[in-house]
Amino acid sequence: MTTDPANSTPDGASGMDSVGRARRDTLRQDDRPASRAWFGRAIDAIPGGVHSPVRAFRSVNGSPVYFDRAEGARFFDVDGNRYTDYCMSWGPLILGHGHPDVVSSVIAAAGRGLSYGACHPGEVELAELIAGAFSQFDQCRLVNSGTEAVMTAIRLARGATGRPWIVKFDGGYHGHSDGLLVKAGSGLITSAATTGAEPSSAGVPADVASSTLVAPLGDLDAVADLFKAHGDKIAALIIEPVPANNGLLVQGDDYLAALRAITEQYGALLIFDEVITGFRVGFGGYGDAAGVQADLVTLGKIIGGGLPVGAIVGGRELMEHLAPVGPVYQAGTLSGNPLSCAAGKATIEALSDGAVHAAVEALGAYLEERINVARNGTWPQIRRVGSIAWLYFDETPIPTAAADVSTTHVRRFNALHGPLLDRGHYLPPSAFEVLFLSAAHSAAELDRLVADIVELCAEID
Ligand SMILES: *Cc1c(COP(=O)(O)O)cnc(C)c1O
Repeated sequence: MTTDPANSTPDGASGMDSVGRARRDTLRQDDRPASRAWFGRAIDAIPGGVHSPVRAFRSVNGSPVYFDRAEGARFFDVDGNRYTDYCMSWGPLILGHGHPDVVSSVIAAAGRGLSYGACHPGEVELAELIAGAFSQFDQCRLVNSGTEAVMTAIRLARGATGRPWIVKFDGGYHGHSDGLLVKAGSGLITSAATTGAEPSSAGVPADVASSTLVAPLGDLDAVADLFKAHGDKIAALIIEPVPANNGLLVQGDDYLAALRAITEQYGALLIFDEVITGFRVGFGGYGDAAGVQADLVTLGKIIGGGLPVGAIVGGRELMEHLAPVGPVYQAGTLSGNPLSCAAGKATIEALSDGAVHAAVEALGAYLEERINVARNGTWPQIRRVGSIAWLYFDETPIPTAAADVSTTHVRRFNALHGPLLDRGHYLPPSAFEVLFLSAAHSAAELDRLVADIVELCAEID
């Protein structure tokens, strides 16, 4: 750190608006003065102090930690405190922070130029590696984020089918493009298209939102009704095959198969948004593992190894609706960036022999077992798919639909987040986010996490 943040914006200098409140909250964190000072500066320079909202720690009533470096599963803040990272950049880092093969590939690529805006071998190799990991797909278009991948997949679906609407699920997150920032009130299931679904962000025009129909997870009849009423207008149905952005709302593989059947019946495309699950649960996509083939799969996170990336994968015939072959336009100055390609290729190659997936599955199973032993029949509970885990701080059954996440869980999680952080466990700062394990985590770290959770849970109601 070359600047002394303590010399910058002093804490609590301005009035007590929502921003001022965020500053005052940080005062209890006496062992993080440098983080506190950086956040004070950030609030003036960046809206809300952050470049992505959940990083602001608002829902857990805390203040962001500023990091200096990360290594394996370890995270070191600007005050010199050490944490075990259970967020792992929200999913990309299945190998851990700074895996030597990934870092050396990126350094080597950087030495040959940072961006070409032109063709190079690395982008072909990565596209081949990715498409080759899907049994039914032969083509891959690289973009720069998961948001961009989904946005492109939707446009491609509309272009290929000539239909205007899409179906998503309540609690499914697919990035922040206009048409996907839509939630539904419970009465909207069959009327959304005519009455207008309600956007979940300001700035999304009602007529954009009304092209997105929202169904509750797990309710096949609701989906069937939507298609019965509007089937000839629906271009695609999009789902995270393991919904992991609103807790971990695991649906059965039968459910995915039923969605496949319904979409096929009405000539709509099925899109699996595998930005989290792609190369996380196994090599390639979750759909292949579940025996359900989507028409298009969107990827991000792991396939960039920690650098910005996204991808759309599909069969050649469908993919060639994209420009420059077809009429669906899509482009990107930095797409196929040589550094992202190098990091992605090194990461995917490191996963190819299955050892990493076996190791993180074993760690996940260990965490699950320790939590289940420790909780003694009550709470916290855990739901897990491979190395993705959601701790549920209530005794009621773990929900499988967004509307059923209990306020008790949220209240308890929010109460525990700060104390866990103080004990060196960096969990994603939201009750609705999952934990990610990596090959760099150890059973000893999980033991400490579980012991601290058990101890802290005993202190709250
Ligand atoms: C993270 C995520 C996205 C968005 O990816 P970004 O790279 O953040 O734009 C889309 N879909 C799912 C399922 C995600 O988890």
